[in-house]
Amino acid sequence: MPKGKIVIDKERCKGCGLCLAFCAQDVLAYSTEYNQSGYNIIWVKEPERCIGCAFCAQACPDIAIEVYREKKPKQGK
Ligand code: SF4
Ligand code: SF4
Repeated sequence: MPKGKIVIDKERCKGCGLCLAFCAQDVLAYSTEYNQSGYNIIWVKEPERCIGCAFCAQACPDIAIEVYREKKPKQGK
């Protein structure tokens, strides 16, 4: 499985939950935290499960998620 990592911009998040719905790996969850606009924001509950598929970022209407993928080591030669 590829490894991924996401970063959520807390102040952009509106707590809509779309990213949760689109993550098949169950990485994300609602946190107990609220941002300055008063939205209940998302946190990366299970970071080790992230495969970097970027479905969450594509689903986010507020462009609050950045996705990074671990580079694969070069094979042989
Ligand atoms: S990149 Fe894919 S696996 Fe990682 S949190 Fe987003 S939807 Fe889930
Ligand atoms: S889809 Fe975007 S705005 Fe909605 S809860 Fe997820 S990170 Fe926040």
